[in-house]
Amino acid sequence: MILRARTVVTMDDPPIENGAVVISGNRVLDVGEFPEISARHSGQELVDLGEQALLPGLINAHCHLDYTCLRGKIPPKKSFADWIRAINAEKAKLSEQDYLASIADGFAEAKRFGTTTIANLTAFPELIPQVHPPIRTWWFAELIDVRDPNRTSDLVALAIDAMKRARDSGGGIGLAPHALFTASANLYRRCEAIAQCENILVTTHLAEAREEMSMFHDASGPLYEFLKSIGRDMSDCGHETPFARFTKIVGGSGGPALPTEWIVAHVNELAESDFEQLEGSARKFHVVHSPRSHDYFAHSRFPFERLRSFGFNICLGTDSLASNKDLSLFAEMRAFQRREPALSPKAVLEMVTVNAARALGKPQVLGRIRTNCFADLIAIPCSETADVFEEILAFEQPVDWMMVAGKT
Ligand SMILES: [Zn+2]
Repeated sequence: MILRARTVVTMDDPPIENGAVVISGNRVLDVGEFPEISARHSGQELVDLGEQALLPGLINAHCHLDYTCLRGKIPPKKSFADWIRAINAEKAKLSEQDYLASIADGFAEAKRFGTTTIANLTAFPELIPQVHPPIRTWWFAELIDVRDPNRTSDLVALAIDAMKRARDSGGGIGLAPHALFTASANLYRRCEAIAQCENILVTTHLAEAREEMSMFHDASGPLYEFLKSIGRDMSDCGHETPFARFTKIVGGSGGPALPTEWIVAHVNELAESDFEQLEGSARKFHVVHSPRSHDYFAHSRFPFERLRSFGFNICLGTDSLASNKDLSLFAEMRAFQRREPALSPKAVLEMVTVNAARALGKPQVLGRIRTNCFADLIAIPCSETADVFEEILAFEQPVDWMMVAGKT
């Protein structure tokens, strides 16, 4: 099949005017200017998308579809610990069926907004085999052992077993020790060890809130008090920053480069000593920033420029609808651009295409339009005059045309 469009945005080269993409099965077979493509592949079925830009489907590098049904339910709180209490209270009202419906609604909404690949953290890995993802999905089992640190090994084994029974969506699986304040060092090390010997990714939330910094660095603050009150062993607090603690647990301070590449969400709270370590580190893990969720929580400014200048791969995610309005990555790109107006629209689009593909370990086949890449594409209207990347970022409608793995 040949797809023709006014502009083809490959993410490799400048956009191709009057471009075309040849699809064979679930892959891209060829891409170029329409006259040459149609000559090289004569006799193929032609689908003319008209006055549209054809681009790679968007990749959401961090979300929790479990909580799609919590949209608008939790107003912003003064304290991060209060927000955790509030979401726990909402979660206590939900049944397994509610979560399955919430996940299905989340997938439908993400797809409607042009997302063709999603990295989805679920707190209920046992439900995964029952879900039919309509888009390419990386399932991450979100693991918490703060209330039961003796069950850590079982927790990981059960999660991996459930994820291996996931319906094939063309994605993969991963482990997500939730955060330093809810997951033990033992749990982090176990996930790290498994990721090193199996084809499993690892992600976590790190240095998100000011209260996390005061908990680990100063052994004080609302998050410290809350976790102490539920019986957490607080002996790891009062010594170092969250980032220093993380690197000590998973890599050993100043140790060799890690063989696995963590996908780290947030990283808003860094001390100058952390920046020094980041700058000198050979470990350039992936960072996911969720601009609108970040604004909802009024977190400290995300240190985008410094992290980028140190060579970290920075992606965008929506986080969950317990702290965001919708699952549109277009809206996420616009929110990010408002904070970083000097960044080009193309560089912003890279954060939800090629950068996210790298984070998921698929830079050769995801996030761009190139021979042998997965045929995961979207089309949006574009005009003759405007800069196509600006038009993409400004797009506010549901996406009418989408292809995932060669299927529309
Ligand atoms: Zn999250």
